[in-house]
Amino acid sequence: MAQEEMQFQAEVSRLLDIVAHSLYSEKEIFLRELISNASDACDRLRYAALTQPELMGEDGSFAIRLKADPGAKTLTIADNGIGMGRQDLIDNLGTIARSGTAAFVEQLESKPEGTSLIGQFGVGFYSAFMVAKQVEVSTRKAGEAEGWRWTSDGQGAFSVAEDGEAPAHGTRIVLHLRDGDEEYLDPMRIRQIVATYSDHIAVPVILESRKEDEPDQTLNAASALWTRPKSEITEEQYKEFYHHVGHTFDEPWLRLHFKAEGVLEYTGLLFIPSTKPFDLFHPDRKTGIKLYVKRVFITDDCSELLPSYLRFLRGIVDTEDLPLNVSRELLQNNPRLAKIRSALVKRVLGELKKKAAKAPEEYATFWNTFGAVFKEGLYEDQAQRDTLIELARFRSTAGEGLVSLADYVARMKPGQDAIYTITGGDPEALAKSPQIEGFVAKGVEVLLLSDPVDDFWLTAVPDYDAKPFKSVTRGGADLDKVAKPEGEEESDTEKSEDSSPALDALIAFVKLTLKDAVKDVRPSGRLTSSPVCLVADEGDMDMHLERLLKQQNQ
Ligand code: ADP
Ligand code: MG
Repeated sequence: MAQEEMQFQAEVSRLLDIVAHSLYSEKEIFLRELISNASDACDRLRYAALTQPELMGEDGSFAIRLKADPGAKTLTIADNGIGMGRQDLIDNLGTIARSGTAAFVEQLESKPEGTSLIGQFGVGFYSAFMVAKQVEVSTRKAGEAEGWRWTSDGQGAFSVAEDGEAPAHGTRIVLHLRDGDEEYLDPMRIRQIVATYSDHIAVPVILESRKEDEPDQTLNAASALWTRPKSEITEEQYKEFYHHVGHTFDEPWLRLHFKAEGVLEYTGLLFIPSTKPFDLFHPDRKTGIKLYVKRVFITDDCSELLPSYLRFLRGIVDTEDLPLNVSRELLQNNPRLAKIRSALVKRVLGELKKKAAKAPEEYATFWNTFGAVFKEGLYEDQAQRDTLIELARFRSTAGEGLVSLADYVARMKPGQDAIYTITGGDPEALAKSPQIEGFVAKGVEVLLLSDPVDDFWLTAVPDYDAKPFKSVTRGGADLDKVAKPEGEEESDTEKSEDSSPALDALIAFVKLTLKDAVKDVRPSGRLTSSPVCLVADEGDMDMHLERLLKQQNQ
């Protein structure tokens, strides 16, 4: 097939423009990105070869080979991984497949000062253009006959042509370095970059020698990071691993590295991010945990490994207890995996409990980032509900910060027998709603629940500490039983007013005017400054939930 010219997707062109023109100080991360991709490609072929050993061809082991050529001013990164077919090349290196990246590019464009964020975010393969004026990718997909060659100068277009010289399987990337970027040809510099960013990569990263009489050098430890003793892993190595495995670029908020022995044997290295991924609420979001069996990568799309309310976790689980040739179908309803899952959940919740007790402020930052997802567990995970509800935090009329239900109950007024809540879209507006005036006046705390998920868990969780949850937007949520704040006399004025002829006349007038728009009109002691408020009848659906369902035509 002849050479074909193709245009980059518009977002890619914009991204490349930003990449090439930003005076980005940490250009060196391009090597981290390319090695990370090469390592992923080896993982994927290793898995495919479990059932199709012939895909490995002559190769006995995986390697990522680097070669610097000062004469040609090229740096080559080659792997013997899965490789790419023609369509893979076009899809992977011509578009931005990951929605997060597309959203990030939009963000960058709206605020140009954001370009300094590129390094933190990482732009994957496209970071090659930070140092290269021309990039050639020569690749052959394991098991396919044709090889392909992708070339581009990063200026809006790329070309694809058949390539007889492509590796037997895997990918070779040749970077023609820009003037001024010759430092990336220096073996010392290359060694230093690999040591900094890629030491945790399990595949050997080999720098090819330039001299006949000098051997090639392996630049990394080349063992899976999670198998190493904790004492030998630095904070930096953990962080680089987290970025590689999670395709993330923030600081991890929490790290868990553990080994379970006994009936089930597995190792986990899990992280909770400090920032919210763009696709946290996308329905097709994959779980963030990679499953390995005896150091062999199996899948990063195993929904059996963790419940979806913990989908913000990143990392790996490596187990000895599944067969190596476990198919993805076999993972479903697998009893061993189910046991690992419940052990993981317990461990994660246990860690969160410790954090909540020891570092409430740090815990609050976690809660503000992932609380809305976490609360899904209140109705999804019956078994853990008691633990989850203790870990939940809420805004309330008590003040600025977050409160736990234990806090709330401890502050309940004498005579108060329910936990009062109000749900709605905007916490500021909730705090000002007329329905809560009377509660605030009496010093009764109301939980301000502003996440869509709140309406749903409230229907599933009847009470906490034997105190039922009660919406202040219900007619029955009256305050009669709650004692007045100390010093205030119980007065009869409210009662007598309830039955005054003037009030009766007013109610009759309002009822006539509104007709069927309302079910009833009642006098209320709950208002202090607002003249009226809407409430739902006891036994009817909560007002906010009703509105949500109506929006969805239900
Ligand atoms: P990410 O690694 O986060 O998916 P990248 O921009 O780094 O994003 O890479 C885009 C895609 O290109 C990868 O997901 C992969 O499918 C493909 N790819 C990149 N490098 C290689 C490689 N060396 N071998 C095989 N596929 C690759
Ligand atoms: Mg990548």
